[in-house]
Amino acid sequence: YNMQPLNFRKLLLGAIDTIQQTSATHQIVLNGTEEIEFVGDYLRLEQVIQNFLSNAIKYSPKADQVIVEYKLEMGNIVVSVQDFGIGIARKDFSRLFDRYYRVDNSAMRFEGLGLGLFISSEILKRHQGSFWIESEEHKGSTFFFRLPLDASKNNHEAINNDDFYKDRSLSIVYN
Ligand code: ATP
Ligand code: MG
Repeated sequence: YNMQPLNFRKLLLGAIDTIQQTSATHQIVLNGTEEIEFVGDYLRLEQVIQNFLSNAIKYSPKADQVIVEYKLEMGNIVVSVQDFGIGIARKDFSRLFDRYYRVDNSAMRFEGLGLGLFISSEILKRHQGSFWIESEEHKGSTFFFRLPLDASKNNHEAINNDDFYKDRSLSIVYN
């Protein structure tokens, strides 16, 4: 991991711009104005945001908007990506971030490998992040994640250590 100082707003704007260019149907709206200095792996976090955004668009074929929000909360950045799409049943919440997992029926109509959220969760783990979901079927989903401003600070060893996964459990909270 290449942990570097970066501007979180710029990171978000870049990812949004990239995904916006792939969609003629949805407008991605960004709420939040703060300039936040942050330490993280730019390319990998960009990939995380792009994964959430492309899912939000893919799984809301009848909607025309995706809303991204970010804010600073007690030394953490909290980001949400909200769509108004097919939603996710509660029973599927716990497996969404598993490798190759795709929700039966609903997801089968859409192309995909079931890797985006798995990869995203690995990257967030490496940044000491956590994430959670709020969703209602046929109404839409919101994916949240929280990142400490400097994941490399208190955790230098872990970040560069392959044993990282053994002792740091990922927290997933279901609302
Ligand atoms: P890939 O991202 O590898 O192209 P994918 O989108 O199917 O394929 P993930 O991004 O890991 O894989 O998502 C896993 C599953 O979670 C999806 O197949 C879908 O069932 C569900 N899912 C993810 N995001 C949403 C969303 N915004 N709304 C509804 N379901 C979602
Ligand atoms: Mg995906």
